[in-house]
Amino acid sequence: MGVSDYDFDLIVLGSGPGGQKAAVAAAKLGKRVAVVDRPDMIGGVCVNTGTIPSKTLREAVLYLTGMSQRELYGASYRVKQEITIGDLMSRTRHVVDREVQVVKAQLLRNHVELVPGLGRFLDPHTVCVEGAHRGDRTSITGAFVVIATGSRPARPAEIDFDKERVLDSDEVLNLDHIPSSLVVVGAGVIGIEYASMFAALGTRVTVVEQREQMLGFCDPEVVESLKFHMRDLAVTFRFGEKVVDVAVSDRATVTTLVSGKRILADAVLYSAGRQGMTDALDLERAGLSADDRGRLAVDGDYRTAVENIYAVGDVIGFPALAATSTDQGRIAAYHAFGEPARELAGLQPIGIYTVPEISYCGATEAELTATSVPYEVGISRYRELARGQIAGDTYGMLKLLVSTTDRKLLGVHVFGTGATDLVHIGQAVMGTGGTVDYLVDTVFNYPTLSEAYKVAALDATNKIRDLERFS
Ligand SMILES: Cc1cc2nc3c(=O)[nH]c(=O)nc-3n(C[C@H](O)[C@H](O)[C@H](O)COP(=O)(O)OP(=O)(O)OC[C@H]3O[C@@H](n4cnc5c(N)ncnc54)[C@H](O)[C@@H]3O)c2cc1C
Repeated sequence: MGVSDYDFDLIVLGSGPGGQKAAVAAAKLGKRVAVVDRPDMIGGVCVNTGTIPSKTLREAVLYLTGMSQRELYGASYRVKQEITIGDLMSRTRHVVDREVQVVKAQLLRNHVELVPGLGRFLDPHTVCVEGAHRGDRTSITGAFVVIATGSRPARPAEIDFDKERVLDSDEVLNLDHIPSSLVVVGAGVIGIEYASMFAALGTRVTVVEQREQMLGFCDPEVVESLKFHMRDLAVTFRFGEKVVDVAVSDRATVTTLVSGKRILADAVLYSAGRQGMTDALDLERAGLSADDRGRLAVDGDYRTAVENIYAVGDVIGFPALAATSTDQGRIAAYHAFGEPARELAGLQPIGIYTVPEISYCGATEAELTATSVPYEVGISRYRELARGQIAGDTYGMLKLLVSTTDRKLLGVHVFGTGATDLVHIGQAVMGTGGTVDYLVDTVFNYPTLSEAYKVAALDATNKIRDLERFS
C-alpha cells in the first residue's frame, strides 16, 4: 500500500501533550493527521486530571490561604477565612476549560481531524475507534501511528477505592469537601505535592511511605527543608512503613500499617505510581506487547518494535512528565516523516510543585561524590536577597555545584518561591557549557530572585579562590 492509500498519514492515539505535539508537528509538515481521544479528555491527563488541575489547585491554595504573605502580615493572615472545595475547584475548572479550548483550537487550526472515542488496533495500520455509544464504531487507516495513551493511577488490588473516602490521584479532584485529616500513601512526586497542598489548607496529613526516605533523587538538603516545612504544617511522616488495610465507615477511615499503627482520617489518598494505558489497545494485533506496568519499549527515536508505530509520553515510562512528552511527540513525528530532528538535550530539569516548590537540574552532591568529581558549593538564601524580603520568602535557597577543576556549573538546586522557573537560568548556563564566572560577571535585575545566582556564584568562587590560595 502506498502512503496516500491510507486515510491518514498519521493516526495519533491520545490528545495529551505527547499526542498533541506529534499531531501538530506532522500537520506542520503538511501531513494528514487524525487524533483519537474521548471528547471529555481533550488535552489528556495533563489538562484534565493531572498537571493542570493540580497546579491550579496549588495556586488557589496559596492565594486563598494567604500562606505566602504570612511572613509579612502575621501567622493569622488569610485571604478567605473558610475556604471551601468550591472556592478551589471553580478556579481549577476555569483553567482546565480554557486549556481544553487552547488545545482544540491548536489542533483545528492545523487541520488535525479529531476522531472522538477510544482506539484499538485491528492491524499495524488500522485503528478501530469506539465512540461513547454502543455500535458507534469506525475504522481508520494510517501510514504511521503514534501511541500517546498516557497512564492512569496504579491501584493496589487489595484496596477498596470508593470514590469518596479512599481515592486515587484522579479522584481527589472530585472531593466534595476539604478533609480535616488525610492519609497519603506514597511519597512520590504526586503524593507529596497533594500532601503539602492539603497541609497548607489546614488538613492534618499523615504520609506513609514504604521506603526510608522520599524524593531520593533530589538534593537531601532540599528534601530536609521540605520535610521541615511540611512538619511545620502538621504533617506526620511514616517512613519505612507499609499499609496492610484500609477500613472505611460512612464517617471516617482507619489505615492499618504492618507495624500495627492505626491512623484515623477523614480520607485516604493512594498515590502508588502509574500504569500505562495499553490494556485496551489490542496491541497483539499490531505485533506489540507491553510490560507488566503497561509500558511500551521504544528506541531513541521513540519507535516501537513495529516500524510504523511510535510511542511517546507516559506510556513509555520514565520520566513521565508533560514537560518531556511534548518533545517526544514532536521528535517521533519528525522521525516518521524523515524530518531531521536533534535528540532531546540530556540536561533536563525536575520541578516538584510542593509547598514550597523544588526544582533542580544537573548533578546532585551525592552523584558527584559517588563519582569522585571535585566540586564546591555556592549558596544563596532568599532572606538575604531584597526580593526575598519583599516577597516574604525567608526560607528559600539556591545552591550551585561548581567544578573546582574547570569552574563549570554541574548542578543547580532551588527551594522556594519561583524555583521551577529560576532553575532554567542555571540550565541554560550548563547547557551551553558555561562556567560560574558567567554568573559572577553578569548583571542581574535588582531586586529579583534571579540575583540568587550571582550571590551563590560569588559564594562558590570565593571558596574556590581561598582553596587555590592555600595550595
Ligand atoms: C496529579 C498529577 C500531576 C502532574 N504534574 C506534573 C507537572 O507538574 N509537570 C509535568 O511535567 N508533568 C506532570 N504530571 C505528568 C503529566 O501529566 C504526564 O506526564 C503527561 O500528561 C503525559 O502526557 P501523555 O502525552 O503521555 O498523555 P496523557 O496526558 O497521559 O493523556 C493520554 C490521553 O490518551 C487518551 N487515551 C487513552 N487510551 C486511549 C485510546 N485507546 N485511544 C485514544 N486515546 C486514548 C486518554 O483519554 C488521555 O486523554 C502530572 C501527572 C499527574 C497525574
